[in-house]
Amino acid sequence: MDNRIESSETLRNKCGACFRQFNKVEHLVDHMRTSYHSVHEPMCGICRKHCRSFESLREHLIGPLPKVECARIFGVRGCNICLTILDTPNSLRAHRGACQLSRVSPQGLLSRMSNLGIKDDLLKVDGGRIRGPQVVALGCKMVGGGRDGSLDLCARVCLIDQDENIIFHSYVKPQIPVTNYRYETTGIRPEHLRDAMPLKQVQRKVQDFLCNGEPMWKIRSRSGKARILVGHGLDHELERLGIEYPAHMIRDTAKYPPLMKTSKLSNSLKYLTQAYLGYDIQTGIQDPYEDCVATMRLYMRMKSKVHQMEEYPLATDAQNRNNFAVWRQNELERMTPDELLAISRSDYYCWCLDSINVPEQ
Ligand SMILES: [Zn+2]
Ligand SMILES: [Zn+2]
Ligand SMILES: [Zn+2]
Ligand SMILES: [Zn+2]
Repeated sequence: MDNRIESSETLRNKCGACFRQFNKVEHLVDHMRTSYHSVHEPMCGICRKHCRSFESLREHLIGPLPKVECARIFGVRGCNICLTILDTPNSLRAHRGACQLSRVSPQGLLSRMSNLGIKDDLLKVDGGRIRGPQVVALGCKMVGGGRDGSLDLCARVCLIDQDENIIFHSYVKPQIPVTNYRYETTGIRPEHLRDAMPLKQVQRKVQDFLCNGEPMWKIRSRSGKARILVGHGLDHELERLGIEYPAHMIRDTAKYPPLMKTSKLSNSLKYLTQAYLGYDIQTGIQDPYEDCVATMRLYMRMKSKVHQMEEYPLATDAQNRNNFAVWRQNELERMTPDELLAISRSDYYCWCLDSINVPEQ
């Protein structure tokens, strides 16, 4: 009898998001205070369990130690790229055709090269209204400087728009001597850099293009003309280019929690492209255009997730700061797990929020 009471008690103290169970309700409340569960977390399409990252959702569905019932259904009609569950094996086949992307062909690259140089007017007009801020992806390839060639110097840069068209693609002449061209991966030889565009000039072009006429101090999220910048490991690339850009305008696939490892370390772009887009990149000589396309595609995938919209989606929003603190402990302890989940908010900015239209100012 006692046992039964205890187990129903434990069931009551089960987190409504990650399903962890707690012996005492105050432990569940503690867990909710620090977990930042939300509707923006990756979720199992079968049991509705929330996961911190797609990687942990992948483990939940595929293994090595998956949840047995979920793995069984996933094996029949789950997409191993985007991890969604389709209604039937037939709809899975149709879905897979669109979900699995393929590498950009060199021919495609050449035709897209015809627009070399910065295009000034890329406004996407939709029925006379601009659909939110423009998004661009940046990629660089580095050669080595310094005595042992380990200092990264930007030698190639590429910028694309959200339709994968090249905005800018150029060799860059570093400011100090190159001691290692890293030819096997970069394909760069001294003659490519000899008359290349100087770093300072590249820096100005890219910076101006990102700000799009807006002074840096005025750039606010999603309401002005400044462009959202997508990339992988952008801190390092921007640092090497000598470019500053506000963090709230940056979407970095290396630092986006849903795309990180369960250990909270970054995944490589090569891995993310393989796992979440279904094709290989960075084999042999690497073109920064290919990295730009991969990061842009990852961004578009993440942005197009359909999540329920909350009024104040972030734990850092003024209205949600101390969301749990406005309630008394005994009030929180009386709430059901679902009620606790309903007041919990995400601690990271979900990219689905970029798809909300912002009224023009
Ligand atoms: Zn939880
Ligand atoms: Zn979201
Ligand atoms: Zn599940
Ligand atoms: Zn899929």
